Amino acid sequence: MKIGIIICDRYRNCGGGKCLRAMRNRDGAFSRYSLDEPLELVGYSTCGGCPGGNVEHVPTEMVKNGAQAIHLATGLVVGYPPCPYMDYFRQYIEARYQIPVVIGTHPIPQKYYLVHRKLSSWDVLNRFDYLLADVQMREAYD
Ligand code: SF4
Repeated sequence: MKIGIIICDRYRNCGGGKCLRAMRNRDGAFSRYSLDEPLELVGYSTCGGCPGGNVEHVPTEMVKNGAQAIHLATGLVVGYPPCPYMDYFRQYIEARYQIPVVIGTHPIPQKYYLVHRKLSSWDVLNRFDYLLADVQMREAYD
């Protein structure tokens, strides 16, 4: 399975450590893939900054590299506020490139979980049960 990852530009300096660890361990959004199945990252980029202009073009390169799915990184979900465009990004990429889009990568870190629980953004996080995991897993991704 080959995938591309698009991250929120607010985290443009992120080294990708949590996403890559989750990929390797099949945690969070990667739990949908079997550990027996090789998982290869064929593209990694940012959205380009609000309102996400790079989402229009960057999947082209990922698909040329063989991407069979694109993940929108967990940073889109846990940012303050969560990205208001993530559902549109998913619709757009799936319509234009005919490959599935998964919202999320690594489990939600506990520190974000605790703050969002106090905010209206909890409704957004609560949509993604595969990212919520359990407290031990969330703490492991703090
Ligand atoms: S909030 Fe959304 S559009 Fe804005 S930088 Fe992050 S991913 Fe891109």
